Amino acid sequence: MTAATPRGEHHPVVIVGGGQAGLSVSWYLGHAGIDHLVLESGTPMHAWADTRWDNFTLVTPNWHCRLPGYSYAGPEPDGFMTRDQVVDWLTGWLAGFEPPLRTHTTVTRLTGSTIGGFDLEVTGPDGPSVITCDRVVIATGGYPLPVLPDFAGALDPTVQQIHSEQYRNPQQLPDGAVLVVGSGQSGAQIAEDLHLSGRQVHLAIGNAPRVARFYRGRDAMTWLADMGLYDTPTPEYPGGRAAREKTNHYVTGRDGGRDVDLRRFAVEGMRLYGTLIDGRDTRLRFAPTLTDSLDHADAVYNSICSDIDRWIERQGIDAPPGAHYEPVWQPPSDPESLDLAEAGVTGIIWAIGYRPDYRWIEASAFDGGGRPMQTRGITEVPGLSFVGLPWMHTWGSGRFLGIDRDAKYVAEHILTELGGTRLRSVVNR
Ligand SMILES: Cc1cc2nc3c(=O)[nH]c(=O)nc-3n(C[C@H](O)[C@H](O)[C@H](O)COP(=O)(O)OP(=O)(O)OC[C@H]3O[C@@H](n4cnc5c(N)ncnc54)[C@H](O)[C@@H]3O)c2cc1C
Repeated sequence: MTAATPRGEHHPVVIVGGGQAGLSVSWYLGHAGIDHLVLESGTPMHAWADTRWDNFTLVTPNWHCRLPGYSYAGPEPDGFMTRDQVVDWLTGWLAGFEPPLRTHTTVTRLTGSTIGGFDLEVTGPDGPSVITCDRVVIATGGYPLPVLPDFAGALDPTVQQIHSEQYRNPQQLPDGAVLVVGSGQSGAQIAEDLHLSGRQVHLAIGNAPRVARFYRGRDAMTWLADMGLYDTPTPEYPGGRAAREKTNHYVTGRDGGRDVDLRRFAVEGMRLYGTLIDGRDTRLRFAPTLTDSLDHADAVYNSICSDIDRWIERQGIDAPPGAHYEPVWQPPSDPESLDLAEAGVTGIIWAIGYRPDYRWIEASAFDGGGRPMQTRGITEVPGLSFVGLPWMHTWGSGRFLGIDRDAKYVAEHILTELGGTRLRSVVNR
């Protein structure tokens, strides 16, 4: 603490982050009458409005959208809300309860207090201060720090570079062709957005798998939910750790939902490459992985279809037939280079993901990769918990589908520590 910072504000519980995860924990604590404070560096749940592109739609069907005391009740449970519809829907949730929320206030440092509990150094509209608390829930999101490769700074400075979270629409980029790097959910959908707008798109694809949007009469994610895959505890998940660390399957909810078929895009003129491994000035180098990456994505697509087939058969469900994917295009070779100037590329969108950023937390709660060591959000550091992490408890964690359950668990843990069953029964009402 610096000498100038005032001291004195104390709360039994502080939640850092006022996104859907932090506010879900707040919902439960509030309903149990627990004094707490939510600190949010921007406005509540602003990530949806501020870091999604204009044509963004959810990839998860609307019926997945559930928050404590609130779930999607619109006319299209199997549809996909647009960005603005998500923002409206979340605004509706927030209007139904009054979280003790302090906006525009960032926690810059969190340390264990010498007298137990935690000291939080914060900066807000009134300047820096210190808040103390007995327990703290970290809800700062699963996607905190956008990743750019080291060589991004060595590329031709006339080519505009942005991260996927800064992408809004094709008009924001200078005229010319665009290179999208990364084929996870964001990269594949942004490449499609640019492609549909008529831009020449070059897409460097990684090892992301893909999934059918609809199969055998229903949304594939609805089948997967029925099969229990979003409820299977992380340690028991088929495929183990490798499956959990894979990039999310690419597919889109745009225009009512459809597959994202990169081979189809190639037929229509999109230029595909394997993994981008290096670049300098205008020259880029790719690993010769394009063919394997496309094959892998399609193999996963078809294997999920087969899993659904087996489920339908075992359950004796009367479902219409469905076709597995047959490739509509094969790369003539695996391209290994691209000259940005020769190809007329004027913009690059990095869609290669995010990494954790908990450097502001001084606690022995992280592994060598900076990831929280936690079980269902609870760490070995007394009083320190997390919520909203991907795969925190199940595949549904970190998404709308799983956040209510995960937040409730963390809140219950806090309530149990504070007062036991009486409080728990309030939450379970
Ligand atoms: C591109 C994209 C598409 C997605 N699509 C879907 C989808 O279709 N379906 C689905 O279910 N999920 C989807 N998700 C996943 C998930 O629903 C969102 O990431 C959601 O925003 C997570 O909510 P959160 O509260 O965990 O994190 P966030 O929304 O990121 O909220 C964290 C909050 O913490 C605040 N904060 C951070 N650091 C501090 C600090 N030090 N002090 C104070 N405040 C701080 C931030 O300002 C932010 O408001 C998507 C995610 C991304 C990135």
